[in-house]
Amino acid sequence: MTETYNKPVPQITKINRPYWEAAKQHKFMLQRCKMCGSYRYNPGESCPSCLSEELEWVEVSGQGTIYSWTVFHHVYHPAFKDEVPYVVVSVELEEGPMINSRLVDYKIEDIKIGLPVMVTFQDVTDEITLPMFRVIV
Ligand code: ZN
Repeated sequence: MTETYNKPVPQITKINRPYWEAAKQHKFMLQRCKMCGSYRYNPGESCPSCLSEELEWVEVSGQGTIYSWTVFHHVYHPAFKDEVPYVVVSVELEEGPMINSRLVDYKIEDIKIGLPVMVTFQDVTDEITLPMFRVIV
């Protein structure tokens, strides 16, 4: 963790607060529908499958596979100028939902669609811990 983290951070809301509080404890949680069992990400107020508003937070595996990925070469925010090129992956979680995040500890030439990944956590501020992913070897 650094005192001078100057990158944009997620905005905590009433709906997503449990997700970020779990991440701070290095736990990966998703909302699950009590009616149909579907998982959802991003957090929301209802189930996208059956529209039920009966959702619960459950700790999940944090495992998935790389569905797609891209290498960022352009600096879209000045705080990332020393990090390009970096990789953002779309991960298809074991539980179903897709999530976009950074891939860490990798060689760009080794990344492939379908590689298994596991969540890892980076404490970036006192408030925010970011779930990222690393390839499982
Ligand atoms: Zn549902």
